[in-house]
Amino acid sequence: MSRNPTGPYTAVIGLEVHIQLATNSKLFAADSAAFGGEPNTHISVVTLAHPGTLPKLNRTAIEFAVKMGLACGCEISRENFFDRKNYFYPDLPKGYQITQHRTPVCKGGALPVRLADATTRIIRLNRIHLEEDAGKSIHEGAQSVTLLDFNRAGVPLLEMVTEPVIQSAEEAGAFLTEVRKLVRYLKISDGNMEEGSLRCDANVSVMPLGSARLGKKVEIKNLNSIKFVQQAITSEIRRQVTFLEAGVSIKSETRQYDPTSGKTAAMRTKEELNDYRYFPEPDLSPVSITENWLSSIKSTLPELPWQRVERFTNHYGVPVSAAVVLTETKETADYYEEVCTHTGAFKAASNWLMGPVKAYQNENREAAFPLPASVLAGLIELVEANQVNFTVAAQRILPELIKNPLRSPLDVAQQLNVIQETDTGKILPVIESVLTDYPAKVTEYKKGKKGIMAMFMGEVMKRTQGKADPKMATELLRKQLENK
Ligand code: ADP
Ligand code: MG
Repeated sequence: MSRNPTGPYTAVIGLEVHIQLATNSKLFAADSAAFGGEPNTHISVVTLAHPGTLPKLNRTAIEFAVKMGLACGCEISRENFFDRKNYFYPDLPKGYQITQHRTPVCKGGALPVRLADATTRIIRLNRIHLEEDAGKSIHEGAQSVTLLDFNRAGVPLLEMVTEPVIQSAEEAGAFLTEVRKLVRYLKISDGNMEEGSLRCDANVSVMPLGSARLGKKVEIKNLNSIKFVQQAITSEIRRQVTFLEAGVSIKSETRQYDPTSGKTAAMRTKEELNDYRYFPEPDLSPVSITENWLSSIKSTLPELPWQRVERFTNHYGVPVSAAVVLTETKETADYYEEVCTHTGAFKAASNWLMGPVKAYQNENREAAFPLPASVLAGLIELVEANQVNFTVAAQRILPELIKNPLRSPLDVAQQLNVIQETDTGKILPVIESVLTDYPAKVTEYKKGKKGIMAMFMGEVMKRTQGKADPKMATELLRKQLENK
């Protein structure tokens, strides 16, 4: 309760995250579960609920759910049942959604979440269950008609529900970032929020600081970006505190966030909510997850992001903040490790990946980096061996290599004529000539104006076409000036 941004009140947040699974086909039908497509092209008689059709469970969806549960340390339900959640809506052809009301496939568990100050918070989970998505209603403004696209109907979703333990908008954002990273590591979802693969409902309440009883919660529906989740929570906390301070009690209700106004607005109160008349789905038999099945799923789990962060700090000696950046995606982490098989300069490699490599990726909007790991390692070694300086390597040699990744870094350095001069006998005469040409500056330096050093260095670099080893040149300059 120490992270309390609202004075005498403290916020309590629970998130419900919908994760669209990256299976080929739908949860109970063979039609494509891919995002997009021309409207009503990924459909079948099952999806459209033609009479007499029956659902058939997609086992990959169960495996993906179990993977997520194992990664989060959940208890895995060995007997799984499905339920019907009944409600009427035009984008729901069956008139009910098949979900797991009573027996979520994953119970409990937790996700370690790293905050901006590099501390970790363990966010406890209530459950993760499987359910099918609904279709999409498209409201065409002008003619006030509603079009229906059933491509999404029946696509498998995981619903991940946290305990009410999140304390701030920042933590909520960090949680979602970690979820996105995890589903991508596990390859169970593309995690793209802009395509709706990750959607979030945020439950928000406030209570007096130190209170043992949670306040009445408001649910903010269907947030589709991490930024909006954070903005919506911040604005909702502010609204609730204002009400409580004015002596007005909070209504349990469902609200909607409007990014334009930055405010939440009421959608419906809890009392108006449907009675979903849940009952066991009679057309699906229970699914047993056997010991064998469970251990074969377990054997496919990759190293998890937070485990990788820890190993990177231990094995490569990089700081936590760097390890977090390097493990941002599995591909970047794999690339870093491959570079490190070709060079022992782990720290330098980490700086290269977070600096010039990341800059290139950002500029070119490319996930992959075009240089083979061995070539980048070769370039890093050139810098480490003092043969070229970092700036020249990053700004001149690297672009050449990207144009032609088959060339050797040394070859490019030689052709560009940027190999550093590390021969004292060659640098000394240049230094002497600079000091002879600027006697007044030498006097200033001797009088204590040490800043002149930069000017001398600039001159030395100019006269050596940037090829003098800066460290050696600085040392020599200092020594020569002492003797003046
Ligand atoms: P409901 O039955 O209204 O759907 P649940 O108990 O299933 O409520 O919880 C739904 C979500 O709301 C969970 O993420 C939970 O952590 C969160 N939640 C429950 N109570 C509160 C509260 N008082 N304040 C904030 N979040 C809460
Ligand atoms: Mg609920």
